[in-house]
Amino acid sequence: MIGRLESKPVKPGKPDRRERDSELRRRALKLSGSYLPGAPEPVSVRWVSNQSTRWGSATPSRKTIRLSDQLKGMPSWVIDYVLLHELAHLLVPSHGKHFWDLLSVYPQLEQARAFLDGVSFAAGRGLSGQDLPESSGSEGLSPDSS
Ligand SMILES: [Zn+2]
Repeated sequence: MIGRLESKPVKPGKPDRRERDSELRRRALKLSGSYLPGAPEPVSVRWVSNQSTRWGSATPSRKTIRLSDQLKGMPSWVIDYVLLHELAHLLVPSHGKHFWDLLSVYPQLEQARAFLDGVSFAAGRGLSGQDLPESSGSEGLSPDSS
């Protein structure tokens, strides 16, 4: 006779939202330590889905940072830039010279800004970023076929 096996409670595979958000906070703390020594530690850093016009936002008085989940899937150095940008806002609320001086230590600063500008531009134009072949005809990227 085979006895019943003691079954351990199985943990769900996916971490819940809270865990993922604290992972995001750890990432922010690491960035802050590398590029913004002396900056205030964020109390909370989380993904939000109701933020469609801004990539990120910060509330310096509460030391909280929110990132748009539209950033998910973008290169990590782009997400890091947005995190760093919002971390810098905990020190400097406005986009003055001092603000950009703080961010200038980030190596991919200009690339990340250009990347996000490009994404915004394409979104405004309704472009998907893919040059899909047409079923008929052979028009390429250029609308000017002369
Ligand atoms: Zn800003």
